Amino acid sequence: MSEPRILILGGGFGGVFTALELTGTGDVTLVSDEDHFLFTPMLYEYLSGEVEEWHIAPKYSELLDETVRFVQDAVVNIDLDAQSVSLANSNESLKYDFLVLAVGGITNYAGVEGAEQFTMPFRKINHANSLRKRMVEALDQIPPDMPPQDVRRKLTFALVGAGASGCELSTKMADLLRDAFKRRALHGEPRVLVVEMGNKVVPGMGEPIREFVEKALNESRIEVHTLTKVVSVTKDGLTFEHEGVREQLKTAAVVWTGGVKMSPLVERLDVEKNPRGLLLIKPTMQLSSRDNVFALGDIAVYPDAAPTLAGTAQLAFQEAGLAAGNVKAVISGKELRTRHFEELGEALSLGTQRAAVLTAGKAFGGALARQARFALYTSRLPTWHHRLRVGASWFFDGTTPRPLLPLGIQR
Ligand SMILES: Cc1cc2nc3c(=O)[nH]c(=O)nc-3n(C[C@H](O)[C@H](O)[C@H](O)COP(=O)(O)OP(=O)(O)OC[C@H]3O[C@@H](n4cnc5c(N)ncnc54)[C@H](O)[C@@H]3O)c2cc1C
Repeated sequence: MSEPRILILGGGFGGVFTALELTGTGDVTLVSDEDHFLFTPMLYEYLSGEVEEWHIAPKYSELLDETVRFVQDAVVNIDLDAQSVSLANSNESLKYDFLVLAVGGITNYAGVEGAEQFTMPFRKINHANSLRKRMVEALDQIPPDMPPQDVRRKLTFALVGAGASGCELSTKMADLLRDAFKRRALHGEPRVLVVEMGNKVVPGMGEPIREFVEKALNESRIEVHTLTKVVSVTKDGLTFEHEGVREQLKTAAVVWTGGVKMSPLVERLDVEKNPRGLLLIKPTMQLSSRDNVFALGDIAVYPDAAPTLAGTAQLAFQEAGLAAGNVKAVISGKELRTRHFEELGEALSLGTQRAAVLTAGKAFGGALARQARFALYTSRLPTWHHRLRVGASWFFDGTTPRPLLPLGIQR
């Protein structure tokens, strides 16, 4: 009898960890539109040069066993009745016996005029490359004798959304820019601001960690505008509104860290979803209407997970173990399992010198938390081999940030 065909769509936290667990089971294929996995929690450190691309974005060819087939292509359609998937660059569809859906979310511009066209997203390696380049280009335009008020105007960077991503990224950018000011002997200081619709920063997180975040934002002199809505974005800046008053601001860049929405692929699936469009799955990770289709990560709502875990890598990573175990169980005719997913703690990067970590209900911050974060994340990278290589590199070569040197002399 031929081996069951297991097709995994998406090579992020959900997809890759499922593929790794399923190695040696059936005929496994992983499809992703990128050629690499991305450890998103450290994309900020990649922007600052504290880590290198190979540390956090290893190629699938390095991670996956040769028994797992990898197809680099974009999935354009899923036909659940025909059990087949169409790809953007191939006329042949992929057939499956078991499907694992892990395509993740996409940036949610929330219908804000000009946002998709003019803001910079921050979800992928090339987004970090573009942002770093934009920061260097903006700095390169400032002559050393420019008066501080003009420098500040020209080096204004706005971030939309003060969730973890906006806070981590803004502190990282402010530290990098300040360091560049010293090296280039520029007058004054950069202006980094975060615009947030809600009334507080990191709204999904508890008070103990918020205190560290607020302190870091304050120390990095980030302007935080809460209860403020971005109304529109143009090539040169943005308009925001606070208590009915609108203000226009010229910027060197607007970075969008304002949330995630469903992938159009998932939107098109005619299956049971919650009001936000997330796939409803059973506690075994199967779609409620299809026992041969499993879904996990940012696109699925697991009935028994702590609410704070929604849309996190740590949930997708834990779910991958359960999904893979249950695919194996179906194949071998064993009983399927369920799990309660717990929060494994939180770790935020807050600039190039400090972080904040929450573990077992206790939060701590500073340089020690930064070290702890690196140690913790070494253990969360995929495969032992990769963990050891990266851990050794961080230990022996260090994790010093790479300064924003002028374009001509970039390392
Ligand atoms: C900058 C950043 C920092 C983050 N920091 C943290 C953190 O500190 N802690 C935390 O817990 N979570 C964090 N997250 C959230 C975390 O990354 C997600 O919750 C997690 O990645 C979800 O896993 P997933 O497998 O559902 O999707 P993803 O990891 O997003 O993977 C989806 C995969 O599918 C691929 N794909 C998408 N569409 C298609 C298609 N049509 N065809 C083929 N392939 C496709 C994508 O390229 C990607 O490889 C962060 C996210 C970002 C963007």
